[in-house]
Amino acid sequence: MPEADREIVLRGVGVCPGVASGPAFLLTADEVRVVERTIEEREIPREIARFEEALIATRRQLLEIQQRVGRALDQESASIFDAHLLVVDDRSFVEEVLRGLRATHRNVETVLRGVAERYVEALAGLDDDYLRERAADIKDVTRRILHNLAGQTKATLEGLKDPCLIVAGDLAPSDTAMLDRERVLGFATDLGSTTSHTAIMARALEIPAVVGLHDASVRISTGDPLLIDGGKGLVYVHPSPETLDRYGRLERVHRRLIARLDQLRDEPAQTRDGYMVNLAANIEMPHDVDAVFRHGAHGIGLFRTEFLFLTRDHLPDEAEQAAAYTEVVERLAPETVIIRTMDIGGDKFLSSIKTPPELNPFMGWRAIRFCLAQPEVFLTQLRAILRASARGRVKILYPMISNVDEVVHAQRILEQAKTELRDEGVPFDEAIETGLMIEVPSAALTAEQLAPHVQFFSLGTNDLIQYTLAVDRVNERITYLYEPTHPAILYLIRRTIEASHRAGIWTGICGEMAGNPVLAPLLIGLGVDELSMSPNQVPLVKEVVRSLHYHQTEALVESVRPSDSAGDILERCAALVRETAPDVAQLTG
Ligand code: PEP
Ligand code: MG
Repeated sequence: MPEADREIVLRGVGVCPGVASGPAFLLTADEVRVVERTIEEREIPREIARFEEALIATRRQLLEIQQRVGRALDQESASIFDAHLLVVDDRSFVEEVLRGLRATHRNVETVLRGVAERYVEALAGLDDDYLRERAADIKDVTRRILHNLAGQTKATLEGLKDPCLIVAGDLAPSDTAMLDRERVLGFATDLGSTTSHTAIMARALEIPAVVGLHDASVRISTGDPLLIDGGKGLVYVHPSPETLDRYGRLERVHRRLIARLDQLRDEPAQTRDGYMVNLAANIEMPHDVDAVFRHGAHGIGLFRTEFLFLTRDHLPDEAEQAAAYTEVVERLAPETVIIRTMDIGGDKFLSSIKTPPELNPFMGWRAIRFCLAQPEVFLTQLRAILRASARGRVKILYPMISNVDEVVHAQRILEQAKTELRDEGVPFDEAIETGLMIEVPSAALTAEQLAPHVQFFSLGTNDLIQYTLAVDRVNERITYLYEPTHPAILYLIRRTIEASHRAGIWTGICGEMAGNPVLAPLLIGLGVDELSMSPNQVPLVKEVVRSLHYHQTEALVESVRPSDSAGDILERCAALVRETAPDVAQLTG
């Protein structure tokens, strides 16, 4: 095999799970070549007219794309183009180009490119995700205006003939919006993070995607065979026959399984002997509700509200928030929606909230700590959630609780929100229940002290593992230490569940661990009442639950010795699932 055709594996951030394989299509940055030219004074009006025509054409194209996206996806995704329209309509941007024309006597393309570069440079250098995204918006719009000045229309993605995997340095939102699901099987980009516009679009379109690959667009050429694993964040270039075979087998098993599991959609998640565990869904955006229904989840165990605000440059007010929560609550009724109050900080920063940089953001001013320090922001969100509670079944979940004082303080602000709404005659659920995320070890270790204040716990194992094992959850170098079956984690989970049951309340798990089908028997044996996961994991976990007898889960838990390593325990879990649900075991490796 020629050296160049050897399989290489690139690692990035998986932003939309799923596997896709096929030939690569390299989308090179289709910059328009700008020819610099000096113009005479009398040519200036003509240059201005050309510029204005190009702006009008750009505006019209953007509106068309926005409408198309609105129809194909939803208004939330379409609103991304508001930012682009703002650039076209930005008087200071436009005036600067006009001033530049008069001052430099250069052609409009040259002046526009110069102004845009200055804006982009200034914004891209700032330590602020939102402003960096605005730099991308300016680049995208400028490219489009330059195309219109040159009398060209963008053809690249629109003209795709055969199914392929798109590889690009970055995909502008307008490129992503143009993706034809029939032809684009997946995409891989050098730049991007889980919160970038591209990732948001990929999830909405359910196209397997990996971003943040650094140099994929340099290492891959058009026509190279590729395989993208959007769940694990892997891109195989020239995948070997073994890799294709492994993924091919997995895909076949997966497809067969999914077809079978589709029929289970309305069946309960109960063991063979009738032990029920609720399988709920985690969502980040109102439109994720479609997937909740499609995959047969029961209610929403975690609505991460911070992601709602990503595409906006301001904190949504009470009415905007209430509308978003109400949309989800009404669609889910009579099922329950657990709305988590803002969990900003750590790896989730909102552009609309300025927080000072911190050395240890995961252990810093975040989540409930931030909300209690900004009671007006918190109160607005609580009032909005309460309003939605009049329209269905809602519970409130507080993140990052580390001591009882925080709970008391949060409940006091909730009471204030209720009193205000009562006085204003606004209806809400007077008996609304509240719960705590148990994701800090101190909360798990004092669960009995916290339990009397609330009606449920939700174990946030993503953070609980990171804090207990001192493993940064986003540091790829130490992922081998990130072990959900570490005996210390199982001890804290068991402790929390037992304390809750003694206090007469229930405990769910909403960290990623809950969606791992291999771990379901162990978690059920530990007594968990609800598992909440990304919607597409529900069928797999349900299959495992339905393949078990309850006593097998108890026996599994009893078999765990204090001397066992995380690996031993995981292997025992896998062995049980191999025995009871072999298809699922094969799929999860
Ligand atoms: C968790 O920490 O397990 C959790 C569910 O919350 P997030 O992943 O949003 O921090
Ligand atoms: Mg968390």
